[in-house]
Amino acid sequence: MSRDIVQLLPEHVANQIAAGEVVQRPASVVKELLENAIDAAATHITLAIKDAGKTLIQVSDNGVGMSPADALLSFERHATSKINTAADLFHLTTKGFRGEALASIAAISHVSMKTCRMEDELGFEVDLKGGQIIRKEPGVVSKGTTVGVKNLFYNVPARRNFLKSDRIELRHIIDEFERVAVAHPQIGFAFYHNDDELFGLEPSNRRQRIVGVFGRKINEKLVPITEDTDIVRIEGFVGKPEFAKRTKGEQFFFVNNRYVKSGYLHHAIKGAYEGLLQEKQHPTYFLFLQLDPETIDINIHPTKTEIKFEDEHAIYTILKSAVKHSLGQFNIAPTLDFRHDSKLDTPYNYKDKAPRAPQIEVDRNFNPFSDNVVSPSTGGVKRMPQFKREEQSWESLYVGLSKEESEGFSKVQFESEVNTENLFYAEAEDRQHAGVFQLQRKYIVSSLKESMLIVHQHRAHYRILFEEFLKNITVERGITQQLLFPLILPLNPRELQMLKGVKEMLEQIGFQFASFDQEQVQISGIPSSIIDTQVNAILDRFLADFEQNVPKEELDTSQALARILARNASIKTGISLNTEEQLSIINRLFACKEPNLSPESKPVFIRLGTEDLDKRFK
Ligand code: ADP
Ligand code: MG
Repeated sequence: MSRDIVQLLPEHVANQIAAGEVVQRPASVVKELLENAIDAAATHITLAIKDAGKTLIQVSDNGVGMSPADALLSFERHATSKINTAADLFHLTTKGFRGEALASIAAISHVSMKTCRMEDELGFEVDLKGGQIIRKEPGVVSKGTTVGVKNLFYNVPARRNFLKSDRIELRHIIDEFERVAVAHPQIGFAFYHNDDELFGLEPSNRRQRIVGVFGRKINEKLVPITEDTDIVRIEGFVGKPEFAKRTKGEQFFFVNNRYVKSGYLHHAIKGAYEGLLQEKQHPTYFLFLQLDPETIDINIHPTKTEIKFEDEHAIYTILKSAVKHSLGQFNIAPTLDFRHDSKLDTPYNYKDKAPRAPQIEVDRNFNPFSDNVVSPSTGGVKRMPQFKREEQSWESLYVGLSKEESEGFSKVQFESEVNTENLFYAEAEDRQHAGVFQLQRKYIVSSLKESMLIVHQHRAHYRILFEEFLKNITVERGITQQLLFPLILPLNPRELQMLKGVKEMLEQIGFQFASFDQEQVQISGIPSSIIDTQVNAILDRFLADFEQNVPKEELDTSQALARILARNASIKTGISLNTEEQLSIINRLFACKEPNLSPESKPVFIRLGTEDLDKRFK
């Protein structure tokens, strides 16, 4: 007679197995205990660890505490006060809900808990070893709960041996601590390691908390972000691109105050930074998303931080545009004292209102090499020519330069209307002499407040045209200049296919095609910012470039097209520019959304401040 061989695992074995899922390293214990303290409505939480948590992890809170019966029950598997029915799973507002953590932790360590509710005179203490209660008695305990976890993995040698060096385990613990601390600025925290205080955080607002956790220097790098929509509310901060780091920096997503990882949303952020970061740089962000709990699913693996959204595509789009918007608004402001227009909508939406170009004040008599630095125009109100940004058209640059010099670029037209408004000078007494000159046919040098501005002419024009073209593609059609004689562009079939694919966008930019046949296209109109003799070369190079990096997503096509076209149509190093052209570039550059970097993420200008100069004269 054969025996039945299926049997239930003894409770302590089952707990050990479950523990393996919940507790992978000391940091997992830290996370669970901190979250329990938060769920218990604590306003102050102290974390103390020894030897990176291998010897001791202790979390004390001033939360609601537990009755003796609840304290004992809390170590039972699936004991939780946080959900009653399956339906509760869909509107979780607490961190925990599985009722697994304490049972799991207790199964693989020595735990002692002390707890006392507000309303109780006497508290309760209970000690466990390997999940078995070894002591329980009433005791004088301060209000709240303290859970101490000693000798983690004492009965699971494989796990214990798997632990990394103290330095690495401590790093993991700090990571968990930071996530919790940043998500809960209203809670005070203290964190001790081997009696050293690593963090002491007073209750504060979000920004102060981030500064408290990551240090004072992060403050100036943060750009606030808020976006309120029907499906998601986004708040938080993103890092200014100029401070982006080569190492993966601080990247935090919180959904309903729970730290989550999301490759998908990270991708949205990276998209928003496109063109602003240099290669291998990483954006910093602290983003807090609030959603209806019914529209998210965090009911997955206990230690996983992934999340599922019901409406993830919409969230992606909203997030990306919110980040772009904030970067666009704040990007330049602190660097150049440029008063940003708070009415600017999402990036590249110029529909409602053309952005006002900031003005550079120019003293036409200024000669950087002359001793006489007194400008005749400093007395009284300065009335400076304003080089107004064209509202409907991108007028031609560089008409009239000699052909070799200009490579066919048309000249800037100026509106020399007098206007005293000057965005670079907040105070009249701040006004300085400003001038421009060209260096090596490569740089445009100007002064800006107390500093010296050196602009890379090609990259600047590249940035200007890129934004202009992108605007034409996405918002308003560019102006077409009709050609008297259509241009013929011979193409191979592959090129023709490619051109067909972007025909509509090219038409948005201002191209007009008279015909498209097997071997050639006839071009009857071109954008006003390009001149006819250049068209074939530009389109040729455009097609070659475009073939090299065909954008994968529809979304990126317009960007790629604008970028490649702008690169090929922009003035190059080696072209000499007259003063007005130089000024036009500077003015247009600073009317751009993202003047700091070229579309290929290279710096467009540098600014040398007085301190920088002083340093060099030491
Ligand atoms: P979960 O958090 O998923 O409910 P845990 O095993 O982490 O499961 O905790 C079990 C229960 O113990 C909780 O539901 C809660 O009622 C109680 N508990 C745990 N830690 C604390 C604490 N610090 N303060 C008050 N109650 C606590
Ligand atoms: Mg818990």
